[in-house]
Amino acid sequence: MQSWIKSANKADCAFPVQNLPFGVFSREPDGQEPVCGVAIGDMILDLAVLERADLIDFGGETVFDLPFLNGFMEQGVAAWDALRHYLTEILRLDGDTRLSADMELQKTALFPLADATLFMPFLVAEYTDFYASKHHATNVGTLFRGAENALPANWLHMPVGYNGRGSSVVVSGTDIHRPRGQIKPPDAETPHFGPSNQMDFELEIGAVVGVPTEMGQPITTAQADAMIFGYVLLNDWSSRDIQAWEYQPLGPFQGKAFGTSISPWVVPKAALDQFRCKAPKPDKPLLPYLIEQKPGLYDITLEATIQPKGAAKPTTICRTNYNRMYYSSAQQLTHHASSGCPMNCGDLLGSGTISGPTPAEQGCLLEKTDAGKTPFTLDTGETRRFIEDNDRITLTGWAQGDGYRIGFGECTGRILPPLPEPDWKN
Ligand code: MN
Repeated sequence: MQSWIKSANKADCAFPVQNLPFGVFSREPDGQEPVCGVAIGDMILDLAVLERADLIDFGGETVFDLPFLNGFMEQGVAAWDALRHYLTEILRLDGDTRLSADMELQKTALFPLADATLFMPFLVAEYTDFYASKHHATNVGTLFRGAENALPANWLHMPVGYNGRGSSVVVSGTDIHRPRGQIKPPDAETPHFGPSNQMDFELEIGAVVGVPTEMGQPITTAQADAMIFGYVLLNDWSSRDIQAWEYQPLGPFQGKAFGTSISPWVVPKAALDQFRCKAPKPDKPLLPYLIEQKPGLYDITLEATIQPKGAAKPTTICRTNYNRMYYSSAQQLTHHASSGCPMNCGDLLGSGTISGPTPAEQGCLLEKTDAGKTPFTLDTGETRRFIEDNDRITLTGWAQGDGYRIGFGECTGRILPPLPEPDWKN
C-alpha cells in the first residue's frame, strides 16, 4: 500500500501508511499548545485540525485537541479500529480524497515532523516493569548467583515484575541526571551515600494499556491482548550499584526510580499484527491462566547505541529482537490483573530487558561487560564498563515488512552529572 504523501513510500521510512503511530506535538516556534497527531512519512497529521473540521467526531467530545492520547485511548477498541480505517483511507493512494484533494486543509493539517517538538504521548497512569527475557534473566542470575541458581524458582512459572514509578517516565530527548543513592561496594563494611558509579540502560519494549479492568476481576490472555493500545521503545535506566545493595527482599526501588525513557510515537498494535510470533515452548507447563491462544510476541528488530560527548558517530552496543522474550505483554498484563489488581488506561508495562542468546544480543551493559569486569571498546577507541557522564544512549526498533518497515523512531537520552548535593544538616 502506498500513500499520496510520497516520503511515506520510501522503503526505509519509519512511518509508512501501514504504521500510523500516535504522538503529541507542538508547532514550534509558533508556541501552539501540544495536540495529538499521527506520523506519516516526514509529516505529522494534526488530528486536532481534523477534529475541529468535523472530519473526526467522537460524539462531540474533544479527544485530540489535548496534550495526551488518553482521551482517545478511553474511546475503546472499536473507536481505535474505526479511526485507523479512516486514517488509512484518507492517507493511502487512491483512497478517500477529503484530505488529498483539499490543499487548504493540507496546509493546516500537515506539519513537517522535523520542525515539531514532541512530548510525552500519554499520561502514564502507573508503570510496571517485568523481567521476562530468559536469556537476560539467566545471564544476570549467573553473574549474581552462579549458573546453578541463575533462574529463581518462580521464574519459569510467572512473569516476574515490580511496581515502578509513573512519575519519572519521560519522553525521548530528556536528559537524566546521574542519581545518588546508598552504595555498598563488596569490600566495604558499611554503605555510603553518593553518585552511582554503575549507570546502565535496559533495552525494552513498553506496552501501553488502553482499556481498564474492574478491581477484583481477573482477565484472560485474549482479553489482555485486546486491551493493549500500542507499543513504544522503553529505556529502563538502571543504577546497578544502588540496585545491588537495595534489591533484597522487595526488588528494585531507587536504583530504577530516577528515570525511564520512552519513544514519542505509540505504534498501534494493529500495525504490528502481521509480525506476531509465538512465545517459545515453555520449559515447564504454564498454569492455564497464562496460556496464550494468539501469538503474543512480535518480530521487532531492536538496537541500542552509545555516543560519548564529542564522538562523531554512535557505537552499536547490541542488536536483538522482541521475539526473544519468554513472556508476552499480554501474559504480563494477565498476570498483573490476576489477583484483582485494577488496570487503568495509560498503564505502561515494560517488557524487561530484551536479550538474545549471543553476546551481540545483550540488551544492557551489566550483561555486556560482565557487571563491569570486561570493558568493551567503542568505535572511538574509548572503553566503557558502564555509562559515563554525557554519554548518549539511543534505542531504535522496526518490524520489517515486504518493501516497508513499521518504525518506532528512537528513544534517546544522555546521562548528565549529578545535581548539586543538598546540605544534609538543613
Ligand atoms: Mn527493566
